[in-house]
Amino acid sequence: MLNIVLFGPPGAGKGTQAIKLKEEYNLVHLSTGDLLREEIKQETNLGLEAQAYMTKGELVPDEVVIGMIASKLEQNKTVNGFIFDGFPRTTEQAEALDNLLSSHNSSITKMLSLEVDDEELVARIVQRGKDSGREDDKNESVIFNRIITYNKKTSPLKAYYDHQAKYHIVDGIGSMDEVFERLKDKIQN
Ligand code: ADP
Repeated sequence: MLNIVLFGPPGAGKGTQAIKLKEEYNLVHLSTGDLLREEIKQETNLGLEAQAYMTKGELVPDEVVIGMIASKLEQNKTVNGFIFDGFPRTTEQAEALDNLLSSHNSSITKMLSLEVDDEELVARIVQRGKDSGREDDKNESVIFNRIITYNKKTSPLKAYYDHQAKYHIVDGIGSMDEVFERLKDKIQN
């Protein structure tokens, strides 16, 4: 199996690139952000709980997102692999993912970290807020809180994957196609 963690701060372009990688390598795309937004749209209990965190730019509790990923792995047992987008975001999530994959006799192949500076991130998110209408993309203090949360809770996962020799840096500045080529290059080499 080819299991890729697509990593990076909010606005780094994970979602866009995940869709292209999914097509290229025939993978199942698992975006916890998309899954949570779908729960909110369906007005489920899980969605209601998650919304309170998301509108503030805080992380949804680990057990909620880990549970969602666990059930997706159960539903997709005979696939080429997965692209994890926006997950894991904490050490607890990363450990849970390793354990879940190992119980399916699998593991993470590589973690690809899209690097984009903070100034560019904010500009991209503000632009996306205009196009997508996402509430958490429209409020500047929420955007900053997401970046702070990333730096504090998510960024330490670079060391986590580095210890497993799976951490690869990819320059996230450039055209969509340029970044895509860089990602493919890291996957293939
Ligand atoms: P972005 O990468 O721009 O932050 P996402 O769609 O990945 O967009 O995430 C949107 C929000 O959903 C996050 O700010 C957070 O509140 C919640 N969320 C998504 N994935 C996770 C996760 N793995 N753990 C906790 N919260 C998450």
